[in-house]
Amino acid sequence: MNVADSRRLASSLEQLGYEPTGKPNDADVIVLNTCVVRQSAEDKAIGRLSSLRPLKDHNPNLVINLMGCLIGVRGNQHIQERFPWVDVVSPPSDPEPLLHYLSERVAKTTRRDEQTTLNAVLDGDIVLPKAEQGKLVSAYIPIVYGCSHACTYCVIPSKRGRERSRPYHEVLQEARSLAAQGVREITLLGQIVDRYGLDLPERPTLDMLLHDLHDINGLARIRFLTSHPSWMTDRLLDAVRELPKICPHIEVPIQSGDDTILRAMRRGYTSAAYRELVYRIRERIPGVSIATDIIVGFPGETEAQFQNTYSLLDELRMDVAHLARYSPRTGTYSARKLTDDVPDDEKMRRFRLLETLQEEIATEINTRLMGETVNVLFEEKKRGRWRGRTPTNKLVFVDSQEDLLGLEKDVRIDWAGPWSMVGSLAD
Ligand code: SAH
Repeated sequence: MNVADSRRLASSLEQLGYEPTGKPNDADVIVLNTCVVRQSAEDKAIGRLSSLRPLKDHNPNLVINLMGCLIGVRGNQHIQERFPWVDVVSPPSDPEPLLHYLSERVAKTTRRDEQTTLNAVLDGDIVLPKAEQGKLVSAYIPIVYGCSHACTYCVIPSKRGRERSRPYHEVLQEARSLAAQGVREITLLGQIVDRYGLDLPERPTLDMLLHDLHDINGLARIRFLTSHPSWMTDRLLDAVRELPKICPHIEVPIQSGDDTILRAMRRGYTSAAYRELVYRIRERIPGVSIATDIIVGFPGETEAQFQNTYSLLDELRMDVAHLARYSPRTGTYSARKLTDDVPDDEKMRRFRLLETLQEEIATEINTRLMGETVNVLFEEKKRGRWRGRTPTNKLVFVDSQEDLLGLEKDVRIDWAGPWSMVGSLAD
């Protein structure tokens, strides 16, 4: 979400006449777009923010914009007292405060420029930042902002605000404008992406949107994330199966395999319902890959409850498991009402156990692809090697002198590890 928001802002700034620089010392404007989903992310943001201070001391004209969840939709009154070198603060996904500040204070832009830029941003047209023009293969499109679920551990609803779907035509327009600029793959984003449209007057649905996006020329692949087990419809799964450009990859977090913990998290489903969902996804979409998220060490999680998660992951054999250690977030129900009573080293032990299990599972799944041919869309060349992904979102590296950027090629898999594979161009 932040990658998408930052790109949009970079694009607006270029339209106002700013240019990117790789050197913070040369910058007139620095935007720090922040995440606070776990303490580690918040610490990183604060660390970067502190490191900007000398730049400001050196160049008092530098404009520092702090954006994202460190600010939140309700604002953060103390942040500018604590970090007086911050000039302007912006809630997540909102370019307006910076554009406004620049036109008021720096006067490099006029109100009219600012308005034109903002309107373009709001209409869904997006001009890629120059550095990415002709180079960007895969782009994110936020389609649902905020979240109205109340998972007890999660700070996102209070930071990103209530759930709001972007208008249907705006999403289509953004996808068309990205495709026209050479983007081959889009990923639709939402905290519960399957709830797209439920708050819009015409009640469009994600599967309708996928059908319309599928018609856009130039786009080769379409993805969406993140799904919530309670909101995935059969119509959505059918759209994934029927439409060739929609990648057979589902990101649907379980968070815990224990029913008591799931209830305490207020996730709204049981482990049995999740298991059935996984079977249903696999039945409806042959060859699908599924990714999940798991939190270990939620308040009160016993060894037996953790074991339920372990056995379920062992049974379901997901392609990917994003693992996290529970991190109490200020303002959440679990931070207010529950004690963070699983010690850090125990959280780490559980994390490592799942990590080892997942490494085995992923190795087993990927090893089956050895000698097989898979389709890969190439996104970039890094350290002499092309990097791309299969429709099932598996990372593949290929050595080739050819220019493969943005091309889909058949690749024979020569080596498979848990997190990536290496192959060679077929033919
Ligand atoms: N709405 C999406 C994304 C949430 S954030 C979803 O429900 O999946 C991404 C992941 O961060 C979550 O899935 C969860 O596993 C993890 N996460 C969120 N809050 C957390 C917390 N307080 N401590 C540890 N992990 C957390």
